[in-house]
Order: sequence, then structure tokens, then C-alpha cells
Amino acid sequence: MRFGDVEITPLLDGYFRLDGGGMFGVVPRVLWEKKLPPDERNRVRLAVRCLLVRTGNRTVLVDSGQGNKQSEKFIDRFAVEQPTTLMEELGKRNVRPEDVTDVINCHLHFDHAGWNTVRDGNRLVPAFPNARYWSQRGEWERSQHYATEKDQASFSPEDYLPLEEPRWELVAGEHRVMPGIEILPVPGHSLYTQGVLVRAGDQTVAFLGDLIPSTHHVPYAWIASFDLHPVETLATKRRILPRAVKEKWIVVFDHDPDVVAGRIVEQSPGVLGVVPVEEFAEGVPRHP
Ligand SMILES: [Zn+2]
Repeated sequence: MRFGDVEITPLLDGYFRLDGGGMFGVVPRVLWEKKLPPDERNRVRLAVRCLLVRTGNRTVLVDSGQGNKQSEKFIDRFAVEQPTTLMEELGKRNVRPEDVTDVINCHLHFDHAGWNTVRDGNRLVPAFPNARYWSQRGEWERSQHYATEKDQASFSPEDYLPLEEPRWELVAGEHRVMPGIEILPVPGHSLYTQGVLVRAGDQTVAFLGDLIPSTHHVPYAWIASFDLHPVETLATKRRILPRAVKEKWIVVFDHDPDVVAGRIVEQSPGVLGVVPVEEFAEGVPRHP
């Protein structure tokens, strides 16, 4: 979707599945199964979305999806489906990997940093050879040294080991990547998860990572038990979502299998809902 001289495009890197109980935390199954019906292994199907922002001479990717380095065991365990990939979707829009100038990873779990690297024979190389990779320093350090037992399985060391530190732009807290593109910390899923705000004309497009992975996670209590700091997630939602309502952000839902983006609205005092922005989903392939 074009906003003045900024082109913002949601890109799909296929789907995967996670345990529904993990995805919805304390919310009882009788409630969440109506929103996302689980399969016979109790998993719910989730999209893997990234965001492409083209402005001036910068081609920016927010998150890099799940990549193509998974083992067969992994593909079975997480029911990875890739009827299309991030690379194919970039190609359809005439973006070559070498054209990408910046990759902003919201955090470094395998479903957000998968295409940071690709295999070249036995070696791992950056998938975007000319890009700078942006992460919170704390998240990068966690991925290298301090991953907890709780989320160790969510890190795939192959996604970043070959990237020597000079390629990384490691930031702490809020940061302006360039005029119109800002990093916004959204702690909770991990302490160092970050979102991205893209300001284009009078619109703000927000990619909030796993703070609200789907439309179903907009209500304050709907928080994944995968989150390392769920009470912090709640505090972040309390801080950020009223701002999203007030400033009419177009929020991209990184894991929602059906709704690509929407505006968050206050339906009644303290009760939030979503109005999908259909135009923003134009050109996004659908695989029911
Ligand atoms: Zn995720």
C-alpha cells in the first residue's frame, strides 16, 4: 500500500503451528478454540508475516520470517507450510536480496529471524548481503549467551552465528532507524522485544512483533504463555494500545492466519476490538 512516497507491503513467509494452550496462556480452551480451532495435536495454525518498507533509497524488511533451514523433524513438529516464502514474495515485487538495506528483527526467535541467513554449501551466509541487521542489544546477547531454559527451543543458532557483530546495529531502547522509521521497545514476549513504527504521510503503520501476534490477542488478558514476562506484556499493552487507538495506527498482526492488519478501536471503556484494514492486505496470498 502506498502512502505518499512510502510503499509498505506485508509479506507472507508461510505458516507454522504452535500449541494452542501456549498461544493463549490463561484463556480457557473453550474460548480460544472458537477463534483458532486446534488440530489433532492441539496446535493452531499461524501465519508468519514480515513487512517491506520502500522509501527513498532504503529497502527495509521488518522481521525475516522462518527461513528455509529447518530439519524434517522441525517441519513436522511445527507443521511448517510454505506455499510461498518471503524470498518469493520479495521476488514478485522485484526486490532482490542484495537490494535490502536494513533488516529489523523484532526479536530473534526462529519465526522472526529465519531468513537472516541461508546455507551456501556447508557455510551459512547472510541472506541479505548488503543489509544492516537491527536488534536490541539485550536480545542479541540473549540469543548468544543468556537464552533461558523456557525459550531456548525458540532460538535457532544458525539464524545469526555467521553474522559478525559489525553487521549488526545493536540498539538500546527507542531508536530512529531513519526519518519515518522508529524502533519502539515492546517488552514482555522477551524483555528486549521491539516493534517498528513507520510514519508515512499522516498514517502510522505499526509492526508490534509478538506483543499482539493476532487479532485475538488484542484483549488485555489474551497473552501467550510463551511470553517470558507476561505481566510485562500486560503493562506494555496497557501503555501502547491506547496510543494505537488514539493515533489510529494500522497494526500488522504478524501471526494472524486471517487478518493481515487492522485499526484497534475501543468498543466500550477498556474493551478493545479490531477493524481490519482490507486495502492493506491487497496482494497478500491466502491459503485457507
Ligand atoms: Zn513469533
